[in-house]
Amino acid sequence: MEINHLLKRGADMIGDREYGNPVLEATMVLEKLLDVDKVYIYTHGKETVSGDIADKFMTIMEKRAEGYPIQYIIGKKEFMGLDFHVREGVLIPRNDTEILVEYILEYMDERHGNETIDILELGIGSGAISLSIAHYNRRVRIHGVDLHSIPLEVAEENKARLSLDNVSFHQGDLFQGIEGLEMDGRFHIIVSNPPYIPSDDMGTLQEEIREYEPTDALDGGGDGLDFYRRIIPQSRDYLIEEGLLIFEMGYDQGEEIERMMMDEGFKDIGILRDLQGLDRVIYGTMG
Ligand code: GLN
Repeated sequence: MEINHLLKRGADMIGDREYGNPVLEATMVLEKLLDVDKVYIYTHGKETVSGDIADKFMTIMEKRAEGYPIQYIIGKKEFMGLDFHVREGVLIPRNDTEILVEYILEYMDERHGNETIDILELGIGSGAISLSIAHYNRRVRIHGVDLHSIPLEVAEENKARLSLDNVSFHQGDLFQGIEGLEMDGRFHIIVSNPPYIPSDDMGTLQEEIREYEPTDALDGGGDGLDFYRRIIPQSRDYLIEEGLLIFEMGYDQGEEIERMMMDEGFKDIGILRDLQGLDRVIYGTMG
């Protein structure tokens, strides 16, 4: 079948899904199957592909039509201008999370000039946050912790692909993951994008997320705040004075998290909005 026909059939199959861009997604799948880039696809519309490729393509598009995330199909997601490998078992990096990374990059430039900056990330997923910070600022030393094996494997793969040697990943339950490590001192920054969806809201997430992304990376317990409740008090023992604690959070969780941070003595608390104008990031410094 000709590339153009195949793309049209693929796009039609997923055309009524609420989220996504059918033609672009069909193109991305074919790119991967043919191991070519977009430009090739666009300029070779009349080319015929083998029956084997056409069958594979249709099978994949059927899966996509059932809501399977396109990023797991093509095995990657772009974040901060870098390609991150993703697969089932890790959260797909969200564009909104770039706001968190950009804030940290600016904060380090303003605050820390040429010093070495020690950062701890709790819950790494694909490693997108730690690795993009480390890519854009070579003065950092980052430790990332995750409870689960798949995120650690995927993050290691991404670290190798990006050739970064200033990040190390460890398995463990939050701060336990760095127990026993040789450290020069405390951290300048602790960052986390923890699970923050209230358990009762899990059923309302869009199918792509609910059915296929890891529940452990999303479900934050009864009110969604379980991880903030654990991390905020403990972070006092790991941050330098004036150190930065920064989280991604749910759009309506700012007030409660701010209260938790103030109760633990954090100051200069600020909230950042996401691409839709919703509260998405909260930060403060240890007083
Ligand atoms: N932003 C994600 C979502 O909407 C949630 C990520 C998280 O719980 N940390 O699915």
